[in-house]
Amino acid sequence: MADPNHPCIACRIVREDHRPPGGVLWRGSGLAVHALDGPTPLPGWLVVTSEVHVRGWYDLPPEAAAALGGVAARALRAQREVLGAEHLFAFAIGARLHPFHRHLVPRYADTPARLRGRGAFESRPEDALPAWRVVAALETLRRAVGRAQPAGT
Ligand SMILES: [Zn+2]
Repeated sequence: MADPNHPCIACRIVREDHRPPGGVLWRGSGLAVHALDGPTPLPGWLVVTSEVHVRGWYDLPPEAAAALGGVAARALRAQREVLGAEHLFAFAIGARLHPFHRHLVPRYADTPARLRGRGAFESRPEDALPAWRVVAALETLRRAVGRAQPAGT
């Protein structure tokens, strides 16, 4: 597997010179919300990435650190309300891709037990959803997260 840190895939995503499925759905306060960059077993798996390259949550610029909870909560609510997720898991690990990013991982009623919670990171190639299904969920989320924003942010 290619090293996602050289060149840094997080920086490429926030600069929009690498496009995960659906592209950047929303950005503000130094944070960008986008989909998991790669095959996913779960529709609407989102990632919040810092626009500034920092190693961990502890290094976030003050504005991004302060905004993170609200940005994540809006995304989480959208994942529940428009995609019907039963529950959401949030992970900031940074073991493989180093710069700060926080996963917002949905669990649906029909999500198999082995793909729930951190199990989502252990999905198999055959678990990957078709691209059309991934993109359809992201377009629904883009509209929902966008609606939740005050004008101009
Ligand atoms: Zn970076």
